[in-house]
Amino acid sequence: MRKSTVAIVGRPNVGKSTIFNRLVGERISIVEDTPGVTRDRIYAKAEWLNTDFNIIDTGGIDLSDEPLLVQVREQAEIAIHEADVIIFLVNGREGITSADEEVAKILYRSNKPVVLAVNKVDSYEMQHLIYEYYALGFGQPFPISGTHGLGLGDLLDEVVKHFPDRSNEIEDEDRIYFSLIGRPNVGKSSLVNAILGVDRVIVSDIEGTTKDAVDTSFTREGRDFTIIDTAGMRKRGKVYETTEKYSVLRAMKAIERSDVALILIDADTGIREQDKKIAGYAHDAGRAIVIVVNKWDTVESSQDAMKEFEQEIRKQFQFLSYAPIVFLSAKTKKRLHTLLPKIVMAGENHAKRVKTNVLNEVIEDALAVNPTPSIKGQKLKILYTTQVAAKPPTFVVFVNDPQLMHFTYERFLENRIREAFGFEGTPVNIYARRRN
Ligand code: GDP
Ligand code: GDP
Repeated sequence: MRKSTVAIVGRPNVGKSTIFNRLVGERISIVEDTPGVTRDRIYAKAEWLNTDFNIIDTGGIDLSDEPLLVQVREQAEIAIHEADVIIFLVNGREGITSADEEVAKILYRSNKPVVLAVNKVDSYEMQHLIYEYYALGFGQPFPISGTHGLGLGDLLDEVVKHFPDRSNEIEDEDRIYFSLIGRPNVGKSSLVNAILGVDRVIVSDIEGTTKDAVDTSFTREGRDFTIIDTAGMRKRGKVYETTEKYSVLRAMKAIERSDVALILIDADTGIREQDKKIAGYAHDAGRAIVIVVNKWDTVESSQDAMKEFEQEIRKQFQFLSYAPIVFLSAKTKKRLHTLLPKIVMAGENHAKRVKTNVLNEVIEDALAVNPTPSIKGQKLKILYTTQVAAKPPTFVVFVNDPQLMHFTYERFLENRIREAFGFEGTPVNIYARRRN
């Protein structure tokens, strides 16, 4: 089931980043006593009462070159676009400011649920501070303290109440959900159009998402596909839409809902640092991956050029050794026909389950070729192996002592499993567990 998303909005220095870190439960971004500190992560998983959700710190989308009112306005719009529930954060020690009113005005116009939180209420004696904030018009204000971790439970109880009901959202097991991710201008929109060009396009507004987030479904050769969030790629000229943080945020949200992520690389400009970052998110999320080198029409086409580019990709994206590479041009449609078969292959491998008895035969053969190692006179013993999950394929190897499973041996087993079952396009997880 799709997770709900919560966004924190509010003018600078009210404590958004402090609260974000509290809710995420790790100290991941650095909060200093200087306003506008840079934050690394602005989108993360959180959990409350067994409900998983995602949380966005809109303050982390750096618009600091813009006037304050433009910043708060755009951050409020991001929250409206991206979130199911909005936490509107104010500073209990400063009263209502004109920037708070500006945020409020934008939030009134949306029909997203807003929960008002008054931060920096560091003790019970300070609770009376909240009354003034009823005037903002969002009902009961929740007193909280980011630095002391007070009031967050009550706030989250309220937030969770407003999550949309997704119990009747059906996920079609045979359908392949994929997304196109990559830097601005690599050709994502062009490639979506090229893929859809010859098909009857069914555009469906999925409930609970904004007008902008539209998935596109199509059928080809008897298979159903859905492209995640294509309309969201359209540029509409807001300041934040061109920021790197925002494009990463969009990419992460799209990856999360996909089976297969297409990592687009621009053949014309070559591989950039940001390409690797984006690919890293897809890999970490455990999605199947196809690397697409777009704009191949701009390169003098030859077998050598392709080989060279492929070698460069393999060198720069070592963690994606399982991902197939497709060279094409969204513009001329050359080699476009090679793409969907790779998406299907990656999607099928990602969902694949193998039989336990065949799996154990493969492991036994592997052990015969390359016996288990010993560490300090202790020999690793493998009892049996089982696939515990798909999407991505996840295996548990039961052993006498997981400490004895060296990562090089784990890598060896992974390679044997890959050779035997063909998991091209998908990451594979292997865990060693103790069993006596
Ligand atoms: P942001 O700009 O809205 O993300 O605000 P930050 O999270 O960076 O916090 C701004 C300042 O307020 C920092 O100096 C924090 O230490 C401080 N702060 C955050 N939460 C609280 C709180 O609950 N009580 C007090 N007294 N200070 C806080
Ligand atoms: P997006 O920002 O990733 O969605 O990229 P767009 O689809 O908007 O494309 C950015 C620019 O690259 C546009 O000017 C496109 O016409 C151009 N473009 C996209 N695909 C190709 C291609 O295969 N070859 C060439 N030469 N240009 C392309």
